Amino acid sequence: MAAMLEIRNPADGLVVGSVRDEPSTVVAETVAALRELQPEWEGLGVDGRAEWLLRLQDWLIDNASRLTDLVQAETGKTRFDADIEVPAAIDLAKYWARNAGGFLADERPAPHSPIGMTKRLITRYRPYPVVGIITPWNLPLLNPCFDAFSALMAGSTVLVKPSEVTPLSACELARGWAEIGAPPVLRVLTGAAETGRAVVDAVDLVQFTGSTATGRAIAAACGDALKPCSLELGGKDPAIVLADADLDRTVAGIVYGGLFNSGQVCISVERVYVEAPVYDRFVALLVEQVRALRQGHDDRGYRFDIGAMATPAQRDIVARHVADAVSRGARVLCGGKASDTGAFFEPTVLVDVDHSMTCMTEETFGPLLPVIKVADADEAVRLANDSDYGLSATVWCGDRQVGEQVARRLEVGAVNINDAFANLMNFAVPMGGWKTSGLGARFGGAAGIRKYCRQQAILVPRGPALKREPLWYPASKHRARLVTTLMRIFDGRGRRRFFAKRGS
Ligand code: ADP
Repeated sequence: MAAMLEIRNPADGLVVGSVRDEPSTVVAETVAALRELQPEWEGLGVDGRAEWLLRLQDWLIDNASRLTDLVQAETGKTRFDADIEVPAAIDLAKYWARNAGGFLADERPAPHSPIGMTKRLITRYRPYPVVGIITPWNLPLLNPCFDAFSALMAGSTVLVKPSEVTPLSACELARGWAEIGAPPVLRVLTGAAETGRAVVDAVDLVQFTGSTATGRAIAAACGDALKPCSLELGGKDPAIVLADADLDRTVAGIVYGGLFNSGQVCISVERVYVEAPVYDRFVALLVEQVRALRQGHDDRGYRFDIGAMATPAQRDIVARHVADAVSRGARVLCGGKASDTGAFFEPTVLVDVDHSMTCMTEETFGPLLPVIKVADADEAVRLANDSDYGLSATVWCGDRQVGEQVARRLEVGAVNINDAFANLMNFAVPMGGWKTSGLGARFGGAAGIRKYCRQQAILVPRGPALKREPLWYPASKHRARLVTTLMRIFDGRGRRRFFAKRGS
């Protein structure tokens, strides 16, 4: 019998469920079963698979409130923050059901040279049989959906290993898939790092979302086994505030972008750079708005804006970053303290910070907004790019063209102008990090589903077949000349097309 893992609500410490800590043998057996089922799943075609995804969508709609209860119970987040997960999953299901067919359709590239015209060229997408999806704890229902829906639509079978901190929502998703009567090609196995390692060992492609440290370990294991992985890792997203920005919207957007989900989103605002002329006014407004936020725990109610952190360990990271900053001269303008009970950390604004402090270099993943005054956009861009991370960024401006020019200079995977999180909810654009924030794109557009496929090229002859192609044996000077001359004529430039140098 597998050992059990107890799941607690971090807001009040109460046990809300328990799951199995699955051993590697169960992972291997599950993957073998998925591998066997995959050809039939692929054989359903895009339309057949879309039908199942849309039935799951119906199930999500029918069970939304119960699922949101569960998300809230295992994360300690507020109802307001938990509310978004089911609707976003519903939206995502529709996106993939509608668009997968177009993204996966066979393509017919034109031959690159007249010599290639003797063939009809076809490229097609064939799924990896078993995709392993390893997810973190911050969006326990949405995270598995972000990856599983496109993998299933690609024709892969899917094994999800959710975080051991918040596995209950993912288990419900698997239950929903079974309840609608879908082929058992979406499985969820629970457990901690060891179970995750077994998933990496057994599947054909790994999609991982989580810390950069674990991402590196998974990439190394995949490299060793020569299997592909796609990684969405940590972030340290900068917000750049230009002097002509609408400060009311900017402050409200940065407060939400930095503090939604208690700051526990990979694309949370983690650093703020403000142009000098508006710095004082920005900071005053920011402190006013952050002070007004209500923090607490209230099942199903909307009395609170900010909930708990997912674990006491995560809360302690925030405390460490604040303490380090203060010890180096930073000032806490509001918040700054961890709660005595529950994994809460007060929403916090820090000023007088610089890049020697961990709050500006390491991912905090908490309700912390450190602010720096900059002389101009150039300094903001330089500091924003001065990071090992490159997930996303926000630019806040009056002149949108100037904002776009600033965005183009940032070394990150996505930039939202005058908004936060918008890229995450626009499924037509890639969601992926640069530098140590990831490898490849997690989802979004054609790349978000083709990543689960291998491309296959098929070349079909056109016109009557020769008995022998000109370059087939036996060797012949005449035929070699014919082919190489034709290639030079088709591909060379100017007079070289017709006059080769002697001996060449
Ligand atoms: P966090 O520390 O924020 O929980 P991690 O990156 O450690 O983030 O964990 C994210 C997910 O990766 C979890 O589901 C966890 O169980 C899993 N995991 C942790 N270590 C490994 C590993 N070495 N191989 C595979 N999965 C792992």
